[in-house]
Formats: sequence, structure tokens, C-alpha cells
Amino acid sequence: MKQVGNVIDLQDRNLMYLLEIMRDHDSVSRQDLSEISGLSPAGVSKLVALLIAKGVVFEDGLVSRGRGRRAIRLRINENAMYALGIRFARHYVKCGLFNVKGELISSSVQALNNATVQQTIDVIKELIGQTLQESGEVRDRIVGIGISAPGPLLTREGKIALISNSPGWRNISLVDIIQSQFGIPTLIEHDANVSVLAERWFGKGKLSQNLVYIAAGQGVGAGVLVNGSIYSGHLNVAGEIGHTTINYNGPVCDCGNRGCLEMYCSSLAFARHAKEVATSKQPPAWRATADLNIEAIFCLAKAGDKVALELVHQAGSFMGIGVVNVINSYNPDMIILGDEMAKAGEPWLEAIKGVVNERVIPELRNETTIELSELDIEPAFLGAGTLVIKRTFENLSRLRANRPVSEEDAVRL
Ligand SMILES: [Zn+2]
Repeated sequence: MKQVGNVIDLQDRNLMYLLEIMRDHDSVSRQDLSEISGLSPAGVSKLVALLIAKGVVFEDGLVSRGRGRRAIRLRINENAMYALGIRFARHYVKCGLFNVKGELISSSVQALNNATVQQTIDVIKELIGQTLQESGEVRDRIVGIGISAPGPLLTREGKIALISNSPGWRNISLVDIIQSQFGIPTLIEHDANVSVLAERWFGKGKLSQNLVYIAAGQGVGAGVLVNGSIYSGHLNVAGEIGHTTINYNGPVCDCGNRGCLEMYCSSLAFARHAKEVATSKQPPAWRATADLNIEAIFCLAKAGDKVALELVHQAGSFMGIGVVNVINSYNPDMIILGDEMAKAGEPWLEAIKGVVNERVIPELRNETTIELSELDIEPAFLGAGTLVIKRTFENLSRLRANRPVSEEDAVRL
């Protein structure tokens, strides 16, 4: 039996590999798939036939292959299946329906105003119920529910272990609760981890195998892709770069460590620094700004306001120290920065790159691309849907042929 299992695993891996190639390249034929994957033409034909039979791939016209030769173009059927994605953030819940291409079909959001654990779970259930009800004929092709949440999480058990500063969130089996309510396979993953997945599948990290996504928001965390796989660590809390020390004698952080990165470069730290500057320097342009939130200060910086620029530069320099540590720890080929602080844009990115240029050896820094996220949908939301599609793609052998993919055979936990 074990051997059969291994054969299926190998077939699934190859199916997934072909789908990845089709996802990353717009126009491919069977021959292209064989050349890129290294699989034999006969093997590719067999696997493609399986994908077509399952409705996941279809033939779409012809592609020119030089000297008058033409080949049949293969495409992933973007409507073969849908995923329901939940982003559970500290202050809101978002729910969306995604297709295979990561396009958002519908979405809804609800704020959490100091909601209890039960109230939050009720909000999540309500949004899912509403989305399912409104999904119409697509309902039968929803293959799973993906939840992205702040951690630490016990993903294998489907539990939220703890959410700091949120009383009651300890050892909550969110996956069981949602799965038993809706009868749809449900997955949970750390928000930074699904974000790196979203960037890898649909963002700037498409061709990257060693990718780090840094979420620089109220906290600072990273999703790390090593050789194409998410690096989770022993307890799934790897990538907590916000709690690495950049000032060993600095103030004590909530985590118990001192001088943690996020105490210097999170959006909360930026707002605090901005408030201090507003009070001490009272810059004229700032006084004229009615709602002096961090985005207003980013705008002032982009417009050339010196005080605002200096503040953005300082925040970028601190973040740069974190990026240097990430480069030296993980040796990624690409780092993508997102979340609230990334809205500061180019001046912030330039400050980060400046620190990297000063502090990383040229051989290493020249081979590391540093970019701002450009996804239209926030990665931690898109990634919740991506998680489900990815898991379904990894288990394609289990799908029955000649009918739309359904939840019962798609996502296995
Ligand atoms: Zn800390």
C-alpha cells in the first residue's frame, strides 16, 4: 500500500509542477511543459490528459513555435474551483470568494470593536454564511475555506494558540468550529505565511524560490519561502523578525526581549515618533493638515516636506537593519515589503536600500532584489484563498474526473 501511496504522491507532485509552470507562463504547449519540467513528452501528455479530464486545464487555440510550427496552447481553467478566504485581523474580519487566478469575485468586511472571542467567531460565521448564500451556481465549486490569522497558531491542529493583547484567544479550535458549521474543509495559516504565498503565486515573487515577504504594519513579521516551501519552524512561529533585537540595551518589549525591531519601525512606532515631532517642532505644513495620520505624513514626505521626509527616512533606516538581518539569515533572492509602512513608498524603500548597501557584502546584496508589494488585494487576504487553491492543486489525484471539483474530494487536512 505504501508504494501505491508513493506513486500517487509522485503523480501529484508532477501535476502540481505542471500547473505551476502554466501559472507562471502565459502561453505554454505540451512540448514547452516537457522542456521546462524535464518530464518526458509522453509523461507530460498523460498528466495533461488527467488535468483536462478533471476540468482544471483546457486547450485554448494555438501557439506559434517558429518555422511555421504550431502547438496547442494550454491554460488553467480559472473557474474550475473557488476558494473562500477569511482574513482575521485584530480589528476586522474580511471574507472573500477567489477564483483560481486569485481574482476576487465578492468580498465583505466587518469591524471588530473590542469583540469577545465568541462575538468574533460569530462575525466570521456570519460573513461565511452570507458569502455562501450569495455565491449562486459557484457554490458547488467552492473547495475550501482558508483563514489567515495572527499567530502563534498550531496549524496542524487548526488552533489559534494565542493572540497577544486579545484576551480569551488561547487554544481556540477555529478550524473545527468553522468546518463543523459549514461542512467545508477548512485550513488556517499565519497571516505572514499566506502573504508570502500570495506574492509567490500572484505578485512580484512569481519566479522566486527563496522569497521573504515582510509585513511592516502595527507589528513586523515575515513569511519566508525557502527553496519553494514555507519555512514554518518547530512551532510555526518562524519569521517573527519584529522581535529580533536591533538595540541590545533598548527598552523592554511585550515579548520580554529588549530593543526589538518593531519597536522602532512599525506603524505604531512611526505614529509615536510623528506625534513627538509634531509637538516639538510644530512644522507649518503639519499644522495645516487637519487629520495628521501616518498616511498624511507619507503624503507630505512624497511632496518634499523635509521634516516628514526625515521621519520616513529614519523609519526606513530602522527597517533596513531588519532587512540586513533577513538577508544574512535566509539569503533570499527577493524581499517584498508590504502593509501600512510600505505606503510610505519610494523614500522609505530608498532608505532601506541605503542601509543594505552599507551593511551587506556586495556579492550578496547584488543578488537580492528588494521591492514594495504591488498586489491589488492585501496579501494576507488573497493568501487565505491561495492557501486553499494550493492545497487542492497538491491533491489533484484525489479528484474524480469529468465533473467540477467539489469540496468533498478537494482539500484534505
Ligand atoms: Zn519583542
